[in-house]
Amino acid sequence: MDHFLYRDGVLHAEDVPVPGIAAEVGTPFYCYSTATLERHYSLFVEALGGLNCLICYAVKANSNLAVLRTLARLGSGADVVSEGEFRRALAAGIPGERIIFSGVGKTRRELQFALENNVRQINVESEPELHLLNEVALAMGVVAPMSMRVNPDVDAKTHEKISTGKAENKFGIAYEDAPRLYRVAADMAGIDVLGIDMHIGSQLTDLAPYEQAYVLMRDLVERLEADGIPIPRLDLGGGLGVPYTRDNQPPPLPFDYGAMVRRVFAGMEDREFEIEPGRLIAANSGILVASTVYVKENAGRRFLILDAAMNDLIRPALYDAWHDIEPVIEAEASAPKTTFDVVGPICESGDTFAKQRPMPNISQNDLVFFRSAGAYGAVMASEYNTRPPAPEVIVSGDRFAIARPRLTYDDILAKDVIPDWLGEAGPSED
Ligand SMILES: *Cc1c(COP(=O)(O)O)cnc(C)c1O
Repeated sequence: MDHFLYRDGVLHAEDVPVPGIAAEVGTPFYCYSTATLERHYSLFVEALGGLNCLICYAVKANSNLAVLRTLARLGSGADVVSEGEFRRALAAGIPGERIIFSGVGKTRRELQFALENNVRQINVESEPELHLLNEVALAMGVVAPMSMRVNPDVDAKTHEKISTGKAENKFGIAYEDAPRLYRVAADMAGIDVLGIDMHIGSQLTDLAPYEQAYVLMRDLVERLEADGIPIPRLDLGGGLGVPYTRDNQPPPLPFDYGAMVRRVFAGMEDREFEIEPGRLIAANSGILVASTVYVKENAGRRFLILDAAMNDLIRPALYDAWHDIEPVIEAEASAPKTTFDVVGPICESGDTFAKQRPMPNISQNDLVFFRSAGAYGAVMASEYNTRPPAPEVIVSGDRFAIARPRLTYDDILAKDVIPDWLGEAGPSED
């Protein structure tokens, strides 16, 4: 459920009419709903109620500081994958003690930064990383809180670009290798062995792969503890899918996920649990609003050319992702449908949001919006074609604020530096 509903035929973000935001901010823009973010966070709190579980929001899904602060105020922790994200989480008010550092390529500098900022735990993903972490911790005179990301080799049955739990993926430590590496870690003076982590992919629409992975986690924990290595923390990763369209079978609810977790880990309730949801918290908390620049007909196909492009929302181009696209002024239920290809202005055919999509008729200058654009949307934006990425707005009740303004062309051009030897503008004189 989200808070982007039509009222009297006009799309509202909570209590704010979307055309009013468009008039003030211009299009395209992202719009996030505080109430939806809060609701999704609390769904996880309820689903895992009774377990000692910290929800560590996966910052990479949407790292806007206003979004992070909204979640920080609810007590959320963070799962970060770079020093930059770590700094964002801190800036939003999430203390290091609630920040998990994940990722296959953490550098020496990043490990040091995390330790300096009292990181909750570092999820180590390889043997060389374990050695480097030990070395950095010893040099700093601290002990690094460590969890190991183990790759269970299960098929998450999601898009190949967001599947992470198969043996062939770059993520985690091979399941078979884990017992040996835990022994190595337990003997290191700079390492405090705290936990185990699995994250098998994103946009999972079935609980079965999770259950397979968690059963393997449970088995491994029992085996490690039998070998004298206690594992007090279980990090269950993120990845729960969201409904991108109302037509398909909906993905499992956090409540069902929570029930499965309790079942698999029955008898282990004395542990600390952690989960790392990103998409489920952010995706349906955001929309992307755009205007129609032209409606064009070419060889019998009708194209809706928007002022938003793949530089604003790359998911359709990158993952063949589906987003529902609807007019901001509601169409009559009986209105006839037209088939459109919905595209952006970028000079690549990949800049296509939807092909042969039946939609109510839409005209030049009409506002449309993409649902479920709050996760992996703005964070993946670029300036390709020297287009200022869509600004971000956040709504709370009847208020809205610009959470990231649109860059000016001067802002963008000022990032580049022309070396002295190229001299002034104009043809060279020598
Ligand atoms: C991306 C990621 C997540 C979040 O995945 P979602 O599908 O957005 O829930 C959690 N943990 C790790 C380690 C990740 O890389």
